Amino acid sequence: LARHGGDELVVVLKDLGATPAEAAARAEEAAQKMLQAMRAPFVIDGGEPRHSTLSVGIAIFQGQHESADELLKRSDMAMYEAKRAGRQQYRFFSPEMNGRARSRLMLEESLRHAIEQDDFVLVYQPQIELATGRLRGFEALLRWEHRVAGTISPGVFIPLLEETRLINRLGEWIFDQGVRQCQAWRERFGEQLLLSLNVSPVQFGMPQLVADLRRVLEVHGLQASQLEVEVTESALMQDLDTTREQLRQLRQLGVRIAIDDFGTGYSSLAYLRHFELDTLKIDRLFIANMLDSPKDAAIVSTIIDLGHHLGLEVIAEGVETLEQRDWLIAHHCTTMQGFLVAPGLPVARASTFPTRLDWSSWQPDEPPHSS
Ligand code: C2E
Ligand code: MG
Ligand code: MG
Repeated sequence: LARHGGDELVVVLKDLGATPAEAAARAEEAAQKMLQAMRAPFVIDGGEPRHSTLSVGIAIFQGQHESADELLKRSDMAMYEAKRAGRQQYRFFSPEMNGRARSRLMLEESLRHAIEQDDFVLVYQPQIELATGRLRGFEALLRWEHRVAGTISPGVFIPLLEETRLINRLGEWIFDQGVRQCQAWRERFGEQLLLSLNVSPVQFGMPQLVADLRRVLEVHGLQASQLEVEVTESALMQDLDTTREQLRQLRQLGVRIAIDDFGTGYSSLAYLRHFELDTLKIDRLFIANMLDSPKDAAIVSTIIDLGHHLGLEVIAEGVETLEQRDWLIAHHCTTMQGFLVAPGLPVARASTFPTRLDWSSWQPDEPPHSS
């Protein structure tokens, strides 16, 4: 048994059997034993019991021309697949894994380039208070200005970054850029301006999230109360103990917490009781359909009421028409965001955005455009 680096261990099993099938069965047995052993909680220095998970990748030496390096590489790919499948399991190496590992390496490579060459930018979508037309803040949205493919939307590449955990590298860059920008807007928009940052499920699951946020707030001198993090319901539902602890620490830091795409995830109302939150963002699908579909309208007005009763701010996402805005005002929704006002704007255009809109005579300047 050897520690190979970081949190990776290598187990070498000898003389597993006469045939490959026999060897595989014995290796599988060993992996199962290890997984079983890791299921028990650990107590360190008499503290709280801690849980850990294990992902096992298995490569079998077939007695041909494989080198030790090759064998290690294969077990590593298999382990990666086990992680991808959700941890606490094992996988055998298979030749198709080679292809997937190669595309992961290519993506990693182009991502590193993109960060170095400033190919990523943040755009800022205004959030408007429905009653007054006042600018509440901006949501930072990521764009990849690809040299060949043009602007790529995050819906395309964030799932890939999530899958490969590369989101963490980019995440630090996003926090830094966004917080720096919000601080730079202090003169222009004042200290009430909020900045919303999206935090993906993988980012939310990282133990150092709060430390990272604290550091960028300190570096740029921004008050924590000006920052809102947006998490989705599925991020909260990953692991309830971790979620509770992460939310407690975020709260202690003093940032606001919003649930993004509310209504589309697991929507367990129990967590609204257990977790302390600030904002619900109604998913834009409901907003898009609410004027034609009585069911969608009922869902939207119920979420608005729920928010009021729980003391939460409610933001309607994806508002594209004056009719939708007026319906939301009539139903006492607090805040809106959407193409009716603006898509995600480059810094220069966001900087000249008015602090209050002339709301009663507001007309969208162009038909809905994509950001
Ligand atoms: P989201 O956080 O729910 O962001 C809202 C999405 O709706 C954005 O798409 C925005 O451009 C789009 N949108 C805003 N108003 C309207 C409207 O009136 N009509 C329509 N049809 N769409 C509207 P975008 O920028 O493509 O982002 C997609 C998702 O990618 C985001 O959903 C968010 O989950 C994720 N994302 C974006 N930026 C980041 C980031 O910096 N970090 C992370 N982790 N995720 C991000
Ligand atoms: Mg969002
Ligand atoms: Mg959303």
